[in-house]
Amino acid sequence: MHKKVVIVGSGPAGLTAALYTARANLEPLVIRGLQPGGLIATTSEVENYPGFVEGVGGFELADNMEKQAARFGAEFMDALVERVDFSARPFTITTDGGEIVTADTVIVSTGASPRKLGVPGEEQLANRGVSYCATCDGFFFRNKKVVVVGGGNSALDEGLFLTRYVSELVIVHRRDQLRADPILQERAFAQEKRGKVRFVWDSTVTEILGGESVSGVRIKNLKTGGEMTLAADGVFPYIGHVPNTRIFEGQLDLDENGYIVADERTRTKIPGVFAAGDVVDHVYRQAITAAGDGCRAAMEATWFLAELEHAATKSQAQVEEVVSPALGLW
Ligand code: NAP
Repeated sequence: MHKKVVIVGSGPAGLTAALYTARANLEPLVIRGLQPGGLIATTSEVENYPGFVEGVGGFELADNMEKQAARFGAEFMDALVERVDFSARPFTITTDGGEIVTADTVIVSTGASPRKLGVPGEEQLANRGVSYCATCDGFFFRNKKVVVVGGGNSALDEGLFLTRYVSELVIVHRRDQLRADPILQERAFAQEKRGKVRFVWDSTVTEILGGESVSGVRIKNLKTGGEMTLAADGVFPYIGHVPNTRIFEGQLDLDENGYIVADERTRTKIPGVFAAGDVVDHVYRQAITAAGDGCRAAMEATWFLAELEHAATKSQAQVEEVVSPALGLW
């Protein structure tokens, strides 16, 4: 299959890129990846995406974005990209199902995945009490005791969502101050007053305990060095994210934290390959900024294709100029 535009990843960045390139009649293909709709689809309630007075469910928002792009001709493939080759044109994308797609332009919007605690028990008890998605799994913890790790927006937002179900929520944070926005802090402290939330400050989880399922956590106080065991039925680590860029190693420039290096116009070092959303952004990481990035990447891809088409009517030398990082704009 050959496409003018292939979009890898289906979060707000990818779906917005799909909408814009579809409306430019480029019939983009979106390869959905491991998490259709991206991380936002696993978020309970989104209150800061403009246009929704009462907020909107994360899944609903992503689903609407996909339907909107599909309305203008975007196509979708349920697959995981296993390999890319950006060294020759057209670019080659190989999926886990062995499907090979070639493309004139690629928009990389593979996002980021939850960072793991990296402690004993975490891997063994994954899906048996350890979860990274409160929206997906909160229901299973009705009247149970649950630990959330982290002090950012995700920890508080998703922790507050869990208070609908759980009997007690314990938030373990490595400092004595939260990173989360003041509005979320206020809500969490209000729940603390009601006895629904308890904070364990200056502490980290050093081990997740359990056999068939989670039975508790080992916690270490970083100030005193003291350790304790806390009984719990579930653990939700919300300690940030790591960009999903493994398949681009050796193909695109990555920074020291693994984020793709792109300029302010979403252009990577390979002309015709653009990067948008959490895969490049370690500062804002919002659905709205990812959507904005997706829009810019789509417009850049559209201009790139138009430039290439125009050059092709002139000479091979002019085509070389458009695709060469040394000679072109890049
Ligand atoms: P984050 O803002 O990077 O927060 C990560 C939290 O985990 C921090 O409190 C950090 O502690 C802690 N942490 C990091 N590594 C740790 C480790 N190894 N062990 C223990 N704790 C660790 O990540 P996030 O909360 O996932 O948010 C990501 C982005 O999404 C942010 O830009 C956020 O604003 C956005 N977001 C927004 C909303 C919203 O607006 N409602 C909701 C969710 C996410 P320190 O504080 O000590 O660094």
